[in-house]
Amino acid sequence: MKCSKCGGVFEEIEYSGIKCNRCVSCRGILFSMLDHEHLKTIEGSESIDIGDAQVGKQYNSLHRIACPQCATRMIPMVDRDQPHIWYEACTTCYSVFFDAGEFTDFKEKTVLDFFLDLFAGERK
Ligand SMILES: [Zn+2]
Ligand SMILES: [Zn+2]
Repeated sequence: MKCSKCGGVFEEIEYSGIKCNRCVSCRGILFSMLDHEHLKTIEGSESIDIGDAQVGKQYNSLHRIACPQCATRMIPMVDRDQPHIWYEACTTCYSVFFDAGEFTDFKEKTVLDFFLDLFAGERK
C-alpha cells in the first residue's frame, strides 16, 4: 500500500488498541472511519499525528487521489465543525485520509479555529 499523496509507504501504528496507517514520508494518516471516530474520543491520541502541519497543508491541495487501500477515487470532505479541515474519504472501504497535523487540529477546537473557519470559504 502506497500513499496517494506523496508515493511514500505506510507504517502501521497503534494507539490504545486501535490500528491505523501513517505515511513515513508526508506523515498523512489513513484511518478507517470507525476507528477515526473512536480515536478522536481518546485522550492523547493526537500523539500519533507526528507530522509537520505546514507539510500537511501543502498536501491539502492534492485531493484528487485514489484510496491507498482499494484504489477508488476518494471524495474531498470538509469537517462539519471545523470547515478549514479538509480530508478525503473513501466510500468503498470507508477509509479517511488526514494530512499531517489535521488530526491534532481536529481534536483541538480552539478560538483560533473559530477564526480560521470564518475565512475558510467554500471548498472547490
Ligand atoms: Zn505520504
Ligand atoms: Zn478505499
